[in-house]
Amino acid sequence: MGRNTRQRTAIRRAFEHAGRPLRPRECLELARGEVPDLGIATVYRNVNALVDAGWLRVVELPGTPDRYETAGRNHHHHFHCRRCDGVYEVETCPGGFAAMAPTGYRVEDHDLILYGVCRSCVG
Ligand SMILES: [Zn+2]
Ligand SMILES: [Zn+2]
Repeated sequence: MGRNTRQRTAIRRAFEHAGRPLRPRECLELARGEVPDLGIATVYRNVNALVDAGWLRVVELPGTPDRYETAGRNHHHHFHCRRCDGVYEVETCPGGFAAMAPTGYRVEDHDLILYGVCRSCVG
């Protein structure tokens, strides 16, 4: 395997194994287990390429830097830990948003973020 392929594979694996949105810095830390000499610039370059290829999607949380998660997952939401700044996946959606809109308004989309303390931070 060439160096570039090895790096790309380690980066993809980091996202797959994490199963949650990662910042490039978090991806770097995970992928370094496999490719110790990996650098942040390489992570950024590969993440951008993987977004272009439709393999990753951008996760935007208000007031925080972009994170990325593997594309093509089922509808889900996110939990943002205030202590470690980690973002985790929330699989359920309460739904029923159409009923919350004022009369005559049509809901087309919704966004839902839970804030709190993650399992490892609760201790
Ligand atoms: Zn936490
Ligand atoms: Zn939802």
